[in-house]
Amino acid sequence: PKSLCADEFINDEEILETLAFADAHKDDVQLCYDILEKCKPHLHPASEHGAMITHREASVLLACEDAGVNAAIKQLAHDIKQAYYGNRIVLFAPLYLSNYCVNSCLYCPYHAKNREIPRRKLTQDEIRAEVIALQDMGHKRLAIEAGEDPKHNPIEYILESMDTIYSIKHKNGAIRRVNVNIAATTVEEYRMLKKAEIGTYILFQETYNKEGYKRLHPTGPKSDYNWHTEAMDRAMEGGIDDVGLGVLFGLESYRYEFAGLIMHAEHLEAVHGVGPHTISVPRVKPAMDIDPDVFDNGIPDEMFEKIIALIRITVPYTGMIISTRESQAVRERALRYGISQISGGSRTSVGGYTEQARPHDTEQFDVSDQRTLDDVVSWLIDQEHAPSFCTACYRAGRTGDRFMSFCKSGQILNYCHPNALVTLAEYLTDYAKPDTSQKGFALIERELLKVEDEKRRRQCAEAISAVVHKGERDLRF
Ligand code: SAM
Repeated sequence: PKSLCADEFINDEEILETLAFADAHKDDVQLCYDILEKCKPHLHPASEHGAMITHREASVLLACEDAGVNAAIKQLAHDIKQAYYGNRIVLFAPLYLSNYCVNSCLYCPYHAKNREIPRRKLTQDEIRAEVIALQDMGHKRLAIEAGEDPKHNPIEYILESMDTIYSIKHKNGAIRRVNVNIAATTVEEYRMLKKAEIGTYILFQETYNKEGYKRLHPTGPKSDYNWHTEAMDRAMEGGIDDVGLGVLFGLESYRYEFAGLIMHAEHLEAVHGVGPHTISVPRVKPAMDIDPDVFDNGIPDEMFEKIIALIRITVPYTGMIISTRESQAVRERALRYGISQISGGSRTSVGGYTEQARPHDTEQFDVSDQRTLDDVVSWLIDQEHAPSFCTACYRAGRTGDRFMSFCKSGQILNYCHPNALVTLAEYLTDYAKPDTSQKGFALIERELLKVEDEKRRRQCAEAISAVVHKGERDLRF
């Protein structure tokens, strides 16, 4: 149904029926293999547009405990990821602007009743210092984060901060894409964000379970489930093409969340003709005043990986993000099954990048993967992933349905791969340690051979040479 009312597109009744359907069919191994068969056209994104499996079918696969089926899910997820995204991994960092917040999310240390946490909001000068610190690491893409507080963090503050970030030209590094993760707002304010050149508008649903949502968000504007759940429709109405969904896994039952998440993606595709640009898969972490065990729905790593693999085969065109909430070991496996973007060198505290030691007092959650960006880049290269700092699509206007048709028609290989290699060459020249640089350029040599179109391969090699030998920057296809 093309309803814009959350009660209809995330229908509790339909989710419960889906879970019952999944329970009834989870031991039907043949059915599971038949569902997987339906995903196989996605292995050839350029030649055929396979229909997507439904939230019901995906939920059957999630419930299935057969070892053979589970291994086949992971293998297919790996192969579909290679077909759509190749081995590129896009890098970004979060930038916390303010931890003032009027909401009462029970899992978040920024909740209004937390009197222990020092409240801090960056001035424009402080933002400048943070951004320069991020640029000095090599970052080109940020996700800005703020609590919801109309007095301290009004939309004007967010817009001014975006403007500051884009305007800093420091050495070789300008931030080229600013994604924004702020609370649900009005169509008018989404329009302002679009005008300020937002990349992706990211808003995590936290939980799709309405009852659970109300319990977890007792007061504040975020307590309105429908207002929160319908935010992506308003963002799209306001002209923002790229929206990023996410569930905070661990709050409520993962099977419910998974069905809700896929229904949300189906809804966006049905109503706006374009599904979510990204899906994030955060899990609740310890933080000041927060013990994740009280929510009692933590998922083991094995199931977490299966969820990632299932998202990849169910919505193959959607980018998938994993943050430093997860350890190096979990991230390593998750990358195989479908993740296409990761953060690196992150600090989750307000003002954290300009501090010598990692500050904990204003941190939003404990960071598991505390490696530097260069360590992350080096680790990706060791596993034959191609680290990418590319922001070309969004800057060339390839957003929303234009990006989706670009992606679905397999064009990604002729554009994204060369762009990844050129931006990696920039990073290796400007920021990498000698060892990372050496193995990075060796990887570029190998990856260049994958650019099938001869003319494009030559252009890409020329662009890389211009980066390294002539100091040219921001070349893109
Ligand atoms: N205030 C905005 C909002 O409410 O949507 C911005 C989001 S907040 C800065 C970013 C996200 O961090 C939240 O949406 C939530 O999913 C996640 N988060 C909050 N507390 C967390 C915790 N203890 N562990 C892991 N993630 C957490």
